[in-house]
Amino acid sequence: MMSNPPARVRAHDLVFEQMLSEEQIRARVREMGRQIAADYADKRPVVLSVLNGSFIFTADLMRACPIECEVSFVKVASYAGQSSTGKVRQLLGLDESLRGRHVLIAEDIVDSGFTMQWLLQEVQRMEPASLALAVLLLKPEALQVEVPIDYLGFEIPNAFVIGYGLDYDGLGRNLPAIYQKCDG
Ligand code: IMP
Repeated sequence: MMSNPPARVRAHDLVFEQMLSEEQIRARVREMGRQIAADYADKRPVVLSVLNGSFIFTADLMRACPIECEVSFVKVASYAGQSSTGKVRQLLGLDESLRGRHVLIAEDIVDSGFTMQWLLQEVQRMEPASLALAVLLLKPEALQVEVPIDYLGFEIPNAFVIGYGLDYDGLGRNLPAIYQKCDG
């Protein structure tokens, strides 16, 4: 029996309302998986999943992609410090060479774009055979640098969202739909 997902949820002190349903997400991620499967047949890509937020997106995307592929999980740690974007970043968790591999980064959300801009440069230096980017959510109004997204799930308004892997201070990752912060 299907139970109706709540229209509104609470996390800590904030209230969120549904923006994308489970069905909308499932349909779009399946399309993305099919497209990636067509583009990467016989290339045995390495899907580089950016934790924590991308764990659910990556799991669904890979299961929608019926080709030989591998997955690797990484984290981008950022510290306040001196760099052009005001943060010093470090790539954690990568224990294999990406040299000569077809790499597909899987990311949950691109906001300002700084994280992905940095990660793309970092991975490019490892000399992969090719590098592409699959992103579930993009906030075009928040974008401050150009990010070349090859596979995009949804463009969304400039609102704070949780669910489907995304959190607000640790909560909300297990919500099957995506919710946006209510005003006020
Ligand atoms: P960017 O460097 O500004 O593009 O930030 C990207 C990172 O910020 C994402 O990987 C998320 O971890 C986090 N983030 C940005 N927007 C949201 C949001 O609406 N909800 C939850 N996390 C977000």
